[in-house]
Amino acid sequence: QAADDYQQMERATQFFSYQLRKHKKAPEVIEYLKGRGLSGEIVKQFQIGYAPDGWDDLLKSLAKDQRSRDQLVDLKLVNRNDNGRYYDFFRDRIMFPIRDRRGRVVGFGGRIISGDGPKYLNSPETRIFHKGRELYGFYEVKQAHRSIEQVVIVEGYMDVVALAQAGIDFAVASLGTATTTEQLQMLFRATRQVTCCYDGDRAGRDAAWRALENALPLLTDGLQLNFLFLPDGEDPDSLVRQEGAEAFKARLGEAQSFTQYFFAHLTETLDLATDSGRAMLLSQAKPLIEKVASDYYREELLQELARLLRREVSQVAGQMKAKAAPTA
Ligand code: ATP
Ligand code: MN
Ligand code: MN
Ligand code: MN
Repeated sequence: QAADDYQQMERATQFFSYQLRKHKKAPEVIEYLKGRGLSGEIVKQFQIGYAPDGWDDLLKSLAKDQRSRDQLVDLKLVNRNDNGRYYDFFRDRIMFPIRDRRGRVVGFGGRIISGDGPKYLNSPETRIFHKGRELYGFYEVKQAHRSIEQVVIVEGYMDVVALAQAGIDFAVASLGTATTTEQLQMLFRATRQVTCCYDGDRAGRDAAWRALENALPLLTDGLQLNFLFLPDGEDPDSLVRQEGAEAFKARLGEAQSFTQYFFAHLTETLDLATDSGRAMLLSQAKPLIEKVASDYYREELLQELARLLRREVSQVAGQMKAKAAPTA
């Protein structure tokens, strides 16, 4: 069953890819992709495709019998409405196949080209697609590098593809949700250095902090987690197209370390000149620091915390242990 599912997803990928070459609307779609700075080569590399604007083009092409039709429904490529009519889930969208770490297509992201409706539509969860476990572009990064020096996590499909187009071929996207512990774990098994680089807006900044929280238990000695914050209104796609790859790499090189961001965020709204401000910092930092896996990072965080609190490290450390080990 599973092997067959992957085959069907591969057929769908080929179908969308074919439509981008042959459909009557293809020239318009290709124009759009070119307008976004993408070459035919990069489109081919990521196997970007087009889901036609009809109601059942994919269905007609792939559903040979009732069984394969039901399978398409299970894979969420086809919907069934209340009247029992079957129709394509993705219509008139640019299609981004999402591959698992072994290169098998497990889901799709579809971007609207014109008209209304949600800008992006992602495959819902299926028996082979679990959003929190996949990373768009990770397979391609692994293909491009024998050993992966660093990975950048971005929000969107277009960010990954635009960065690759610019020659920055080590970006992955966390599929619109917050970057999960599972996704971070997957990355830290493959590389020592991960930089979170989300959109320069409220949602992006919130996503960065959630990623930091999810990373705490994974941060062992020797791993590096950085945060790159972009100017307001920019995302990696818009910025790399504006500034070029070298400038973007320079930004990556100057990204905030995990520790810098940790305290920058926690102290943002606090006045450390006051007792209450410092008390607040201690109470907020403590539970988080206790979650950090690495002795090295815990120590570094403690030292910075002590400096900000204007106390001795031993004093702050003592306070941590007092609460952390109540049974002693
Ligand atoms: P573009 O540059 O094509 O406008 P983007 O990649 O900058 O798109 P964002 O709006 O920043 O897109 O969203 C980032 C990611 O979040 C998308 O790639 C997609 O995975 C997800 N996403 C965005 N909008 C939606 C939506 N309406 N439904 C589901 N997921 C979405
Ligand atoms: Mn955004
Ligand atoms: Mn964006
Ligand atoms: Mn964008």
